[in-house]
Amino acid sequence: MQKITRFPRVDGDLGWLETAPDTNVAFGPRLKGNHEFDYVVIGAGFTGISAAMRLAENEPSARIALVDALRVGEGASGRNAGFLIDLPHNMNFAKTGVEHARSLFRLNTFAIERLRQFKDRYAIPFWNDAGKYMAAHEESNLPGLENFAGMLKHAGFDHDLVTGPELTRRLGTPYYRSAVYTKGNVLVNPAALVRGLIKALPRSVTLFENSPVQAIEYGPPHKLKFIGGEISTPIVVQATNSFVEQFGKLPNRIVPIFTYASLTQPLTERQLAQHFKGVKPWGLTSAHMAGTTVRFTDDNRIFIRNTYDYLPELRSTGDELDAAWRQHRASFEARFPFLKEVTFDYTWGGVFSITQNHEPAFSRADEGVYVISGCNGVGVVKGTYLGYYMADYICGIESDDLSFILENSNPSWVPPDPLRFVGARARIAWAGVTAKGDV
Ligand SMILES: Cc1cc2nc3c(=O)[nH]c(=O)nc-3n(C[C@H](O)[C@H](O)[C@H](O)COP(=O)(O)OP(=O)(O)OC[C@H]3O[C@@H](n4cnc5c(N)ncnc54)[C@H](O)[C@@H]3O)c2cc1C
Repeated sequence: MQKITRFPRVDGDLGWLETAPDTNVAFGPRLKGNHEFDYVVIGAGFTGISAAMRLAENEPSARIALVDALRVGEGASGRNAGFLIDLPHNMNFAKTGVEHARSLFRLNTFAIERLRQFKDRYAIPFWNDAGKYMAAHEESNLPGLENFAGMLKHAGFDHDLVTGPELTRRLGTPYYRSAVYTKGNVLVNPAALVRGLIKALPRSVTLFENSPVQAIEYGPPHKLKFIGGEISTPIVVQATNSFVEQFGKLPNRIVPIFTYASLTQPLTERQLAQHFKGVKPWGLTSAHMAGTTVRFTDDNRIFIRNTYDYLPELRSTGDELDAAWRQHRASFEARFPFLKEVTFDYTWGGVFSITQNHEPAFSRADEGVYVISGCNGVGVVKGTYLGYYMADYICGIESDDLSFILENSNPSWVPPDPLRFVGARARIAWAGVTAKGDV
């Protein structure tokens, strides 16, 4: 019996969820009593929802359960920065080759277009085809930007270099020296999007919220234990992101990393007129890997994300949230010194899984046990296509894209704790030092 000892929790005030429509609506009951399903997907984030939806498309008569420890939108899928990134991210094209980059681009755009269809069909709000800036404030971080622009050029991906007064005009702040703008990225309220997807689930998918899996007795049939309930199933898909190790089928492959976000109150008409006249909503990631992600949102708020941490318990404390809040204030006031009176309405944390070689985990781990994890901070899009193709893999539907995913899903080994703890903390500390004013 595989017992689960670490469970997802709500870390802080979840700004996207609280500003999404139908925040308080429950989509599914708690799982109680004994049930049998043909498939069980654990994790109702972008990955799990996509897997459940595609399984239902492939086998319309199958009975599918989708279970989550939290409410939909409370997991990392509803806590992230809301970038649907089309271009390969954190990649060294020179090392992996241009064709590899193009394949990832094709998969990313496939996922974005699939999400777009659901957005259109179910009128999911806060979707903006705004593109994305990658920007640098520090001169020492300009080479990172130039390197990115060079790789885009090499692979033939469209991009613009934006600097000086033009960059200030577009962002409403003169903070950044230079930016690379790419147009295919979409900005969303991720909680609104992931919750909106629930409307697209067919009747053959039964969603159970607030239902943490407490233990699994592996079979098949596999028996998933809940408090006051059990599901028996021949096939289980684990789409639990950073909690994957709890289920015992993917040891020493991922590093769970915490990061934090804040969302301000909406700017007033006066503040908008004074400082953001003509500025359209935008999203910006940093040229430095430890730098700050910033957005000017559709509802006129500023979003800030930074601060990484390795928390073995997979949950944050009030002290950690407070430290993140202080860093967010400093980063916000450095970029928008003219908005010092603006407060943060929400500050929260979330955990995502990274792998050493940036390859995700996507595998049949045992008979009737399938595992997806390691979305490396770009899981909105990556989780969407991995979930989709996992369903195809299970149902025996072959394609070039599935073959590509299978060939490129071999996350390299990472040491267990305490070595992983020491290594992760050291890398995070060093990255923070070199990022300087880009944090
Ligand atoms: C602050 C922040 C900013 C980010 N920014 C971006 C971004 O801009 N773009 C991007 O693409 N990615 C971003 N990411 C990463 C992104 O959020 C993840 O890659 C993505 O959410 C992964 O989706 P998922 O469905 O695999 O995992 P999750 O959304 O984490 O879903 C896994 C689910 O499994 C459930 N679960 C775990 N254990 C159990 C259990 N025992 N029983 C039942 N259910 C369980 C959890 O409750 C959770 O809902 C960011 C992450 C954070 C934290």
